Amino acid sequence: MNREQRRAAQRQAKKDGNGELSEKITLFGKLGDSCLVCAKPFDKKDKEMVMSWSVVVREKEEKVNLYCPECWNGALEMLQQAKEEILGYGAEE
Ligand SMILES: [Zn+2]
Repeated sequence: MNREQRRAAQRQAKKDGNGELSEKITLFGKLGDSCLVCAKPFDKKDKEMVMSWSVVVREKEEKVNLYCPECWNGALEMLQQAKEEILGYGAEE
């Protein structure tokens, strides 16, 4: 790859990145203002909150589900437990 090609690739990467960002901002317009599980209020202007809360996009339903870190971690733990249970049963056979 020569210098000009590399520059073009970098430009393209930058453009793609911006595209993704604006897509997220569009989705943020549909974002709720509280956690779906515990109803803890969510402040879109709080950068730390935006970074730490989890957003699950349901494209089919055109819905954006919002989870606070506590509920998200709880959900992940539950998933992990369920997975281990399934894998555990599988190993017994
Ligand atoms: Zn919550």
